Amino acid sequence: MVFVLAFLFAVWLGSVIEWVVHKHFMHSIRFMRTPHDRHAVMHHSERRAPGKFFAKEDELKDYHLFETSFMPFLWLMHTPLFLGVYWKLGVAAGLGVAAGTLFYVLAYETLHWHIHCPEEFRFRHQAWFRFLIEHHRRHHNRSNINYNVVFPIADLMFGTLSYRDVPPEPEHEAVLL
Ligand SMILES: [Zn+2]
Ligand SMILES: [Zn+2]
Repeated sequence: MVFVLAFLFAVWLGSVIEWVVHKHFMHSIRFMRTPHDRHAVMHHSERRAPGKFFAKEDELKDYHLFETSFMPFLWLMHTPLFLGVYWKLGVAAGLGVAAGTLFYVLAYETLHWHIHCPEEFRFRHQAWFRFLIEHHRRHHNRSNINYNVVFPIADLMFGTLSYRDVPPEPEHEAVLL
């Protein structure tokens, strides 16, 4: 039970971290340049919506799983959190938080890949996955909304959830500071 609660807490935390990292690191040069260049410049221009959002597997050869993402390192950076929870609340809670955040990172890597390249994905016809595609497609159309990829609870909390269709942004979008 403690494990399940810790796991759910970690999924919620994962959503918040994903939102913060995506908005403030991958779409801003305030803290670091590389994630912004790899994501806001490269990924967003290669996979613009509408038009270039979907890709064939071989077109994604420049975007190998894990290679262009720093999410796995981000997970390792949270080791003190897992140890802290373990120390304060016990081994089940510590494992729950570690497993929940690991699940979130793996889900991010897998889902973001398949959202752009859904042809071979076994869940491609399921409603939850169609919803995530739509959610992320709108982010590639307007990069200041829908920062979550896996679980949009943080978009809901921070008011960036949007399903309005708008004309696409100019090709060279301004850096969001
Ligand atoms: Zn983005
Ligand atoms: Zn994307």
